[in-house]
Amino acid sequence: MTIDPTLPRPASLVSSLQSAVAAHPERIALVCGDAQLSYLEMERVVAGLADKLISMGAAGKRVTVIMPNSIEMAVAIMASLAARAEVAPINPFLTHDEMAPLIAACRPQIIVTDTTVEEKVRVLAAEKHIPHTLAFEPLSLSFDAWRQNSSLSLRPEHLPNTDDPALLIFTGGTTGIPKGVEHTHRALIVSLLLHCTTWPLEFGEETFLNVAPMFHVWGLTYATWIPMYTHGTLIMVPKYEPDKVLEALDEHRVTVFAGGPAPIYMGLLDSPLMDSADFSNLKYCISGGAPVPEELYRDWLAMTGCAISEGYGMSEGAPICNNHIGLPVKTYSVGRPVPETDVQIVDLDTGTAVKNVGEPGEIRLRGAQFTRGYLDNPEETALLIRDGWLYTGDIGYLDADGYLFLVDRKKEMIIVGGYNVYPRQVDEVLFAHDKIAEAATVGRRDNKLGEVLVAFVMVKNGEHMDKREFFTYCETKMVKYKRPVEVTFVNSLPRTGARKIDKKLLRARAEK
Ligand code: AMP
Repeated sequence: MTIDPTLPRPASLVSSLQSAVAAHPERIALVCGDAQLSYLEMERVVAGLADKLISMGAAGKRVTVIMPNSIEMAVAIMASLAARAEVAPINPFLTHDEMAPLIAACRPQIIVTDTTVEEKVRVLAAEKHIPHTLAFEPLSLSFDAWRQNSSLSLRPEHLPNTDDPALLIFTGGTTGIPKGVEHTHRALIVSLLLHCTTWPLEFGEETFLNVAPMFHVWGLTYATWIPMYTHGTLIMVPKYEPDKVLEALDEHRVTVFAGGPAPIYMGLLDSPLMDSADFSNLKYCISGGAPVPEELYRDWLAMTGCAISEGYGMSEGAPICNNHIGLPVKTYSVGRPVPETDVQIVDLDTGTAVKNVGEPGEIRLRGAQFTRGYLDNPEETALLIRDGWLYTGDIGYLDADGYLFLVDRKKEMIIVGGYNVYPRQVDEVLFAHDKIAEAATVGRRDNKLGEVLVAFVMVKNGEHMDKREFFTYCETKMVKYKRPVEVTFVNSLPRTGARKIDKKLLRARAEK
């Protein structure tokens, strides 16, 4: 299958905004609570901020955006691109110590933030000698001034080229060091074409709703680029509260719910508003990042009349596989490959012997939407991309119809409510406590969040630590989704033959 040849192919994400403005200047582009911007206003605000970023030396450099989901964030992302910078979003809820290595890796010329996280960001900007920091009051005066200024428009001399770097997005690192994945405008446009071939959309007609965080590739794609590319209206619900999401779905007659991992849908199904909300306009409800259980699939379809379309993707190139609309859905399968994308299953040891139908192995992928590698990390890049294939570290198998089933992760990552957590990173935070001699965290299955973290902790001789002290420490050191939900104090940790902590055994204990 090939990409729909009738779809427009803009040279960059900024050209895609220009097309939306030219075709539908008055259409509402972004809605967040009571605030909204039309496409024409969005162009002016993006151009106003881009000019400011250019005056601070953004062109050809990197701009880091650190703020919760908001209209400002969508504008800051587009303005960075319009200033011909590479944009690097970072999770605003990370602690100082978690954020520091990411800012150091980005080496941005400018950090754009908002007043809700400004204090933390300014401390880090000073520590890392970042030349400029800009902080916006949500829907601030400068935005209003730009919004009303009809002389502002995107300047052709600054527009990015197709092969300019567009996005640096962070994924966790199995080594404990976060890895920055780089994408060009070309790769991101291909990703949009793949989406729109797979889930056809009507230009100028769709209303999207996003709750996923925009510092993650999923939320970013849905909270800015797909709606903009298709000249649609995006409704943002910045904080996931099931009742608010359902009210917005109903009020705005949403056609595409960008959804996210299964727990998002589970939370909605638990809301009393499910019975009264009008879902009749829904065309697509999309999910990814974690498996969709059969019961959830069935219940959601029964309540809304719209099936959950589960996809498989990753920061290194999202999406790559999905349950293609029009094909029968197979439970626990992430579907068939999107167009112009090759999926193969290879042996775990050499990664070169292609497996037969039904045999599990490492999933490797090939297509124009994938990254060319990790920032400043040639070793990890050489492991990720071999002979033109992207090695996912995920284990899966293909059935006779070419449907992909995920089995396990080669990498040790745990996914808590859609967020990636690397136990080793959590272990390192625990090791840093004065009273902790040794610690190991493992994932445990959880009906709501997919997985949660459970810690096994050995306290130093002569020291005492209770659960309250442990959880308080975790609260000050880690963002919520990384914190263990349970701790067991132990006298020793089990070891493998090679004297490594036996996490397999701990996982089995945690499941009990
Ligand atoms: P990220 O880079 O944060 O998007 O995480 C990508 C990883 O999430 C993949 O390598 C998979 O391990 C996992 N993943 C993505 N989609 C699914 C899915 N539908 N079901 C289960 N795991 C998934």
